[in-house]
Amino acid sequence: MTTPILEVKDLKVHYGAIEAIRGISLEVPAGEVVALIGANGAGKTTTLRAVSKMLRPSAGAVWFQGDDVTRLASHELVARGIAHAPEGRGIFLNLTVEENLELGAYLRRDRAGIAADAKRAYDLFPILKERRSQVAGTLSGGEQQMLAVARALMSRPKLMLLDEPSLGLAPQVVEKIFSVLREVNESGVALLLVEQNAHKALQLAHRGYVLETGTVVMTGTGKELLASPEVRKAYLGE
Ligand code: ATP
Repeated sequence: MTTPILEVKDLKVHYGAIEAIRGISLEVPAGEVVALIGANGAGKTTTLRAVSKMLRPSAGAVWFQGDDVTRLASHELVARGIAHAPEGRGIFLNLTVEENLELGAYLRRDRAGIAADAKRAYDLFPILKERRSQVAGTLSGGEQQMLAVARALMSRPKLMLLDEPSLGLAPQVVEKIFSVLREVNESGVALLLVEQNAHKALQLAHRGYVLETGTVVMTGTGKELLASPEVRKAYLGE
């Protein structure tokens, strides 16, 4: 078997005395989409933050492409190929679309490559091209989410961590974002996707994990989880 691109081993995170993540283990196989689903407060956002080092895990390990990266800082993980499009989007509202994209490439020096990737981002999301000189704060929620995804792509990631890319967006915008995520994945980028919209996430995902109160309670292929009576009842509103 080939090495997974990401292995999370018995990860724990505390907020003060509260144990938010109580020993989560999961794998993202190279080139695949893995969805994390679960109710509010289950620990999905915390898991992504611990992987990208927006916060420090209190125990456990993170391996990326066969290396132990548990002790690396955020920027070192970006350099290795992990990009995080965080909850709340994490874009700079007072900078233009173009400037946000440039910041996504802040560790890179290859100007021609950066320009080519900005062009690709505009091809994926033509509306961002139209709005490229506009400050991000004046974009609609959907456009801001597109910008968050586009900005994450500017670091040329091998793995993207996506936190609730569909949150609060109109159905057509959700369709657009998910069709771009599929295209990004088909170009070889692995995705670890946190979603409240379990239906859309599991349709896209090769595998999924269900989180409850900081632990993994179920795992399976996207198809298996979509068919599971427990998942249907708890997360698909049936
Ligand atoms: P949501 O969809 O609401 O973001 P989630 O599954 O992503 O839910 P987390 O945000 O990871 O869940 O939260 C996991 C647990 O940690 C919850 O009990 C939450 O209340 C707690 N928590 C999250 N952030 C903090 C914080 N900064 N300080 C203290 N507790 C926190």
